[in-house]
Amino acid sequence: MSIEIKNVSKYYGNQKALDSVSFSINSGEIVGFLGPNGAGKSTMMKIITTYIQQDDGEVIVNGFHTLTEGLSVKKSVGYLPEHNPLYVEMYIKEYLEFLATIHNVSKNRIDNVITLVGLTLEKHKKIKQLSKGYRQRVGLAGALLHDPDVLVLDEPTTGLDPNQLIDIRNLIREIGKTKTVLFSTHIMQEVEAVCNRVIIINKGKLVADNTIDELTKEHSLTSIFTELTK
Ligand code: ADP
Ligand code: MG
Repeated sequence: MSIEIKNVSKYYGNQKALDSVSFSINSGEIVGFLGPNGAGKSTMMKIITTYIQQDDGEVIVNGFHTLTEGLSVKKSVGYLPEHNPLYVEMYIKEYLEFLATIHNVSKNRIDNVITLVGLTLEKHKKIKQLSKGYRQRVGLAGALLHDPDVLVLDEPTTGLDPNQLIDIRNLIREIGKTKTVLFSTHIMQEVEAVCNRVIIINKGKLVADNTIDELTKEHSLTSIFTELTK
């Protein structure tokens, strides 16, 4: 099991952002994580990647507990946060070298990752000179640098034009051949194109966890989403 979530709850003050959520993801799965804005997707992803801690319940990533083995979890996970925070004044290579130092991985790995995410022609540019699609590639490169088994991508395709969207989707599909991927999105076609499974949360609660085929047997994913989250 790559990711195990057991009865996880999280409060922000009085607000219960996650309410006893449980699911597990097998190694090698690409899972779409859906829910309306404010459902708790980013909160769950921050917990899985140890950026914040749950108030209740257990999260095990690659066999490591987030609360007690945070460093091992971080080594196992590549994380592309929502809004992809980058140091835009840095050159692409400079930024990836900086991350390589933090992760203590060989700088030789940088060129591999640059090729993998399709940044070869742009690699000498400053991040601020890149379009949004290419910035996403830099974010993905950063998430992949230490060759983690698990990837957590928070709305990696939001704000991309249709061509960039297809590029990043293909990239996720390619990466998913060798890694476990959990990614959030609002685009239903994307889930159907990229994932084998979907998890839907609403107001902090799990409302669906099924294969795409099973879930969409009788209704479209959009109508199921609308029904479960209204
Ligand atoms: P999603 O990613 O599904 O849009 P989030 O996990 O970002 O949802 O947010 C879930 C809920 O928790 C929202 O109501 C949001 O306003 C609230 N929330 C998120 N982060 C914080 C925070 N740091 N402090 C207070 N409330 C927060
Ligand atoms: Mg979010």
